[in-house]
Amino acid sequence: MDEGTTAERPWDAPVRVLDGVGAERAVRLERLGIRTVGDLLLHAPRRYEDRRRWRAIGEVREKGVATVCGRVIGCGVKYFRRRTRSVYEVILEGDGARLHCRWWNMPYLEGQHAVGEVWLVHGRVVDLKPRTIDHPEMERMDEGEEGGDGGGDGGGGSWHMGRIVPIYPLTEGLTQRWMRGRVGGALERWAGTVGEPHPGLEPEGMPSRSEALWALHFPGEMDDAERARRRLAYDEWVALQVSIQTRRRRLFARVRGLACGGDNRWIRPFLGRLGFELTAGQKDVLRVIRGELGGPRPMRRLLQGDVGSGKTVVAALAALMTIESGYSAVLMAPTEILVRQHAMRFREWFEPLGIRVGVWTGGEKVPLEGKGPGLVVGTHALAQSGFAPEGLGLAIIDEQHRFGVGQREALLRKGVYPHLLVMTATPIPRTLALTLYGDLDVSRIEGMPPGRGRVRTFVRTRDRLEAVWGFVREQVAAGRQAYVVLPRVEEDEAGEVKAVLKERDAVVRAMAPHRVEVLHGRMASEEKDRVMTGFREGRVGVLLTTVVIEVGVDVANATVMVIENAERFGLSQLHQLRGRIGRGEHGGFCILMAGKDTEEARERLKVLEGNKDGWAIAEADLRWRGPGELLGRAQSGMPAWRFADLARDGDLIEAARGRVASALAAGESVAETSVVRA
Ligand code: ADP
Ligand code: MG
Repeated sequence: MDEGTTAERPWDAPVRVLDGVGAERAVRLERLGIRTVGDLLLHAPRRYEDRRRWRAIGEVREKGVATVCGRVIGCGVKYFRRRTRSVYEVILEGDGARLHCRWWNMPYLEGQHAVGEVWLVHGRVVDLKPRTIDHPEMERMDEGEEGGDGGGDGGGGSWHMGRIVPIYPLTEGLTQRWMRGRVGGALERWAGTVGEPHPGLEPEGMPSRSEALWALHFPGEMDDAERARRRLAYDEWVALQVSIQTRRRRLFARVRGLACGGDNRWIRPFLGRLGFELTAGQKDVLRVIRGELGGPRPMRRLLQGDVGSGKTVVAALAALMTIESGYSAVLMAPTEILVRQHAMRFREWFEPLGIRVGVWTGGEKVPLEGKGPGLVVGTHALAQSGFAPEGLGLAIIDEQHRFGVGQREALLRKGVYPHLLVMTATPIPRTLALTLYGDLDVSRIEGMPPGRGRVRTFVRTRDRLEAVWGFVREQVAAGRQAYVVLPRVEEDEAGEVKAVLKERDAVVRAMAPHRVEVLHGRMASEEKDRVMTGFREGRVGVLLTTVVIEVGVDVANATVMVIENAERFGLSQLHQLRGRIGRGEHGGFCILMAGKDTEEARERLKVLEGNKDGWAIAEADLRWRGPGELLGRAQSGMPAWRFADLARDGDLIEAARGRVASALAAGESVAETSVVRA
C-alpha cells in the first residue's frame, strides 16, 4: 500500500489500497463501477436488513417477507419428471422449529451449504406447513472473514450482526460479507477525512458529508439511510447548478446579444393576413421575447405550451422580428413530416411578404443563398456540418425534448451567439425543468385559442374492439378522419414496421369501405409526403401510424384517434398524441385501448379520461413512472446521478439552485466539482 499518495487524496486512491482487495477482486469491483475508495464509499446499498433482532424460526407465523437465522440440519437435490426438473433444498433449525429453503431447477447449488453451518435467510415465506421460503438470499453467519475482517467496526461488534446492515448490489465472485467488510474498513479509515465538496454551500439541518457516508452504509435507524441519501443527492444537485449557472453567467458577462427586436415592417402585414387574433397568452410571451431579442444579452428561453396552444405562430413572429432586423432564423424540428408541415405553413405565411423559406433535411436541401435574410426549416441535419447559414440571429427548436443538449449547442455554433428559443409541448414539472433546462429562462403560453371542440377520452378494453371500430366507421362516414396509433411494439424500427404491416389487414377490413393508409418512420420521404398529403386533403379516411405523428402534426378534420395498447405509453405521450385531434370546431374522440387489462394500467389511463391539463398529467406521470418517461429518449445531457431522485428531490433542487445563485451573485468563487459523474 502506498500511504504517501493515499494520505493526500484517499478518495481517489485505487481500491487496491484496501485490505483484502487484490488484483482479482479489483477487477470484480470494477464491474460494479468501483475503481477508487471514493467509488466504494458511494456504492449505495440496494436495501437494508434490521439485524438488531431477528425472529426465531418458530416465531414466523404468517406468510410474507422474513429474516431468520438457523443451523443447517440437512440439504440436497431431489430430481423428478425423469430428471428434467429438480429442487435443491436446505433445512434450517433453530429453537426446535424448522424452515425449508427451496431453489427450483438450480441443482448446481448443491455443495454450497453443509450440515452444522449457521445461515441467515431473507425472503418471502410462501408456506407455513412446513415453513418454506423459495429462492431466499442467504448469508453465512458463523465464518470468519476471507481476507480479514479489518478488525470489526470500531464499536466492538460486527459489520454483519446486531445492527441495521447494508445489502449491496453485487457481481459474481463477491459476497455481501466481504463487501460489507471492505466498506466498513474504508469508512473507519477515511470517512473522517472526507471534506465538503462545496464549502460554504452546505445545506442547513442536514448531516455532514462524512456523517452521511456512515449513515448510508450503517444507518442507526432506517430513516437515517434516506437522510443520508438526501444529503449526498444535495451535493449532486449543487454540482449540477454550479455548472449550469457558471456557464450562463460567463455567457452573459462576455457576450452582447444581437439586435433582433425588429421594427414591425413584416409583422403588421403578417398579422393582418393571419386570419385570427393572437390569444392573450401568445401576446404575453411575445412581449417577453421581443424584449429579449432587442435586449443586451442573447436570449436563452424555453417556451412551454400545451399541445395546440399555438407555439408555431409565436415562432413565426420571433423569426419575423429577427428577419426585420437583418438576420436569418432557423427552425429545427424532430421529424421530416413535421419539417414539411412547417415548411408548407411558413411558405404560405412568409412568401407573400417576399421572405424566403429554405428547407434542410437529410434528403432535401434548399438553402437561402444570399439575397437577404430568411428562414430555414429543417431536421437535426441543421446541426450537422453541411449547413452554414449566413447571419444567423435566432435558432428555434421545436419539440425540444426530442433533441439532446449536444444538438442544441451544435445548432447555436452555426452563428455568433444567436438568440435561442426552444419550444416544447411536453409539460415539464418545475423540478424537472430546473434540472434539464436550468440554463434557460422559462415561459409558458397560458390558455388555448378559441373555437376548439372538446376532446372526449375513453378507456376501453380489447373485448370492445368491434364496437370501437363501428364507432370510427360512423365518424368517417360522417366526413371526419381518424388516426389509429400503434405503440412502439419492438425496440427497433424494423420490428415496429412489421407490427404496423401486420395490423394493416385487420384495420383495412374493419374500416371498409373507407380508405386506410399506413405511415411510419421507415418510409421514404416521398412516400410519407404522399400519404400525409392524401390525409391532409381528406382522400384518406384512416391513417394507421406509429408515434411518428406524436409531435406537431396538424390536420383539423381528423377528430378520432384510437390508440392501441395504450398502457405502453406514458401519460404525457398519450396527451401529446391526442393533441392531434380536436383541432377544429368538431371536437374529438380519443379511445385508449388497454391491451393488457391490469387494474393499475386502467387506473393510470383513467387520469386522461378526467383531465385535459397537460401539467397535471405530467405531474401524475412523474409519480407513476418517474422522470424517464417524460424525458423520452433524448436524455443526453443528463448527468448520471447516484443519489439524486427527480421525483422526490423537488425541495433539494430549489435549495441548491438558490444557494448557488446567491453565492455567485455575491461574487464568491464556487468551484466546479465532479461529485456528479459526467
Ligand atoms: P402547438 O402549440 O401544439 O405547436 P400549433 O402552433 O400547431 O400548436 O397550433 C395549433 C393550431 O391552432 C394551428 O392550426 C394554428 O394555426 C391555430 N392557432 C394558433 N394560434 C391561434 C389563435 N390565436 N387563434 C386561433 N387559432 C390559432
Ligand atoms: Mg407544434
